[in-house]
Amino acid sequence: MPTMPDWSRAAVRQMRAASRLYRYADGRVARTVPMIAAAGADDLPPAGGILRPVLADILGRATLHAGATVRLGMSFTSMEQDADGVDVAFTDGSRGRYDLAIGADGVNSKVRAWVKPEFPGPKFSGQGSWRAVVPRLRENSVICMGRTTKAGMNPISATECYLFVLDKRAGMDFIDPADWPAQLAGLLDEFGGELGQLREQIRAGTLPNPRVLYRPLAGHMIAGPWHKGRIVLLGDTVHATTPHLASGAGIAIEGALVLAEELGRRHSLEGALLAYAGRHYDRAQLVVTASGRMGQIEQEGGSLEEHTRVMLHAQEALRAPL
Ligand SMILES: Cc1cc2nc3c(=O)[nH]c(=O)nc-3n(C[C@H](O)[C@H](O)[C@H](O)COP(=O)(O)OP(=O)(O)OC[C@H]3O[C@@H](n4cnc5c(N)ncnc54)[C@H](O)[C@@H]3O)c2cc1C
Repeated sequence: MPTMPDWSRAAVRQMRAASRLYRYADGRVARTVPMIAAAGADDLPPAGGILRPVLADILGRATLHAGATVRLGMSFTSMEQDADGVDVAFTDGSRGRYDLAIGADGVNSKVRAWVKPEFPGPKFSGQGSWRAVVPRLRENSVICMGRTTKAGMNPISATECYLFVLDKRAGMDFIDPADWPAQLAGLLDEFGGELGQLREQIRAGTLPNPRVLYRPLAGHMIAGPWHKGRIVLLGDTVHATTPHLASGAGIAIEGALVLAEELGRRHSLEGALLAYAGRHYDRAQLVVTASGRMGQIEQEGGSLEEHTRVMLHAQEALRAPL
């Protein structure tokens, strides 16, 4: 079972005061960046880490509570549309006809092949992403900049953090999961302080349940329109970002809100789908390009000044109302 985050008043107050600490690999403090709450959300924490299964559980419950019909563990085999609807054949042999089909099936979307068959696929960013669940050694987030590797920790509960490491790589080569802990520990060799302590625990295999994960990072920003007839794309299918701003899920949810609003207020489906992409494109692009630039700076061992400037500018722009 995933650990539930601590949403007690004390924990929320603590997160409201959150700041992000930048350190050099040897542990020296480079700068502290305050985290500012979103406009109109001063009573909420400006940021908070959460494990994917915990977030998925919250969203899944809300989806059922909203009255949606949910069928899990299946996909579709074909989608055919005419002027009045979309016919979908599912992998369990069932079929359905719908007014609108929304493809929100992620970075390697199968629905996208129906809407944008010419799209060649996501592009490797030059970095690999490593994650592990570790004891919470610090109150707030910390980012440590190595030569071409970035590492840090984000709290996810009263007692746990997730450790993140982004390293420079030549390609998307397969790495055997059995080697992940040793490779992750090797990447932390240049880091001191708490990261050095965690490295030794990963190497010795003494962390209780670290759940080490590796994934090469790939992304894209696909030009609009994001629909063809009655099939529309959402989230990572059209704007898959690297994780540098930790905003990929947020901007995907924002896209869903914009789509719902436009469907609710336009008279024509075509008008609503055009307005959705038109209104959402710039903010999604900001997330993708700012994250991409931060990743480039990390790979080049570039300017920390520029790195924080790009991040703060994007965070400020994303705080603005839609
Ligand atoms: C290493 C890493 C760290 C990240 N960290 C953060 C972060 O801290 N904060 C943040 O906001 N974002 C983060 N992101 C980005 C975030 O994960 C994505 O932007 C977000 O999940 C996109 O949501 P989505 O619904 O579009 O796609 P997904 O979350 O990928 O969901 C797609 C769904 O479609 C399903 N699916 C796929 N193919 C099919 C098919 N053929 N048929 C049926 N179903 C299918 C999948 O099972 C999945 O449930 C990170 C990304 C990476 C790679």
